[in-house]
Amino acid sequence: MRIISDPKQFQRIAWEERCAGKCTALVPTMGFFHEGHMELMRWGKEHADELYVSLFVNPKQFAPHEDFDAYPRGLERDADMARDAGVSLLFTPSKDLMYREGHATAVVVPEMAKALCGKSRPHFFRGVATVVAMLLNVSVPRLAVFGEKDRQQLLIIQRMAKDLHLPTEIVGRPIVREADGLAMSSRNVYLSADERAQAKEIHAGLQKARQACAEGEEDAARLIEMVKEHYGEHIPDGAVDYVEIVDLGDLDAVHVVNKQALLAVAVHLGRARLIDNITIAPAKE
Ligand code: AMP
Repeated sequence: MRIISDPKQFQRIAWEERCAGKCTALVPTMGFFHEGHMELMRWGKEHADELYVSLFVNPKQFAPHEDFDAYPRGLERDADMARDAGVSLLFTPSKDLMYREGHATAVVVPEMAKALCGKSRPHFFRGVATVVAMLLNVSVPRLAVFGEKDRQQLLIIQRMAKDLHLPTEIVGRPIVREADGLAMSSRNVYLSADERAQAKEIHAGLQKARQACAEGEEDAARLIEMVKEHYGEHIPDGAVDYVEIVDLGDLDAVHVVNKQALLAVAVHLGRARLIDNITIAPAKE
């Protein structure tokens, strides 16, 4: 496995491999790998001739009060895990190599970026879309693989790729969970034992609403209330950022769940802000 930090060098290699007719895949990450990341790599390895992984904690998607400095890092362990997963190239650029002097361009998908996480993190998706566009331009992959854990991110990247005619297919993969249902996340290490025990209820609340919807409850407000009540009761140390039901295409609010929709949540618990989501659908679909 090659470890490369110079974007130009990576671009040269990636371009040559793509021109040679190879199917190449990129898994963009911020590192500190867990099974969620490894699952994306496994899928990439299975579907591509060359698997690239980028590891870059992107400063532009963190607000000044957020956890950029504290974000968990562990390059050596990550490199070992990537090597074991059959990754052919690990891209680990520095901030200065990515954002060259005078960097001024941003990619914005304005309406979708305002929904859900965008309300409390208004600059987040501008940072995400911009860095992903840069990573795709550097690595020119045939496929780029993202997790549904960050469903809003996935939908925004798919929109961006379509709007900009990017020569990369954006693939979404299911959420990988701990045995008790908690969505795996690098940020789960922030949780104390007590918070960790409560965190499993995030998924349990989503499942409860999914079940109610499948049994005939179509009123989004009532489903949302049901999730909030569950969290109030079972996550006493948590603070809900949002619980929303939105359209899977444009992320607009859904009031009546008469077709498949996305139920998405963010909950502050101790030092962590945890996100999760699930699709819900009425019985008749
Ligand atoms: P991150 O390093 O947290 O930026 O995540 C890198 C990629 O892994 C993103 O596409 C995430 O959506 C994906 N990912 C993170 N956690 C999970 C998970 N539990 N299941 C599936 N994909 C995940």
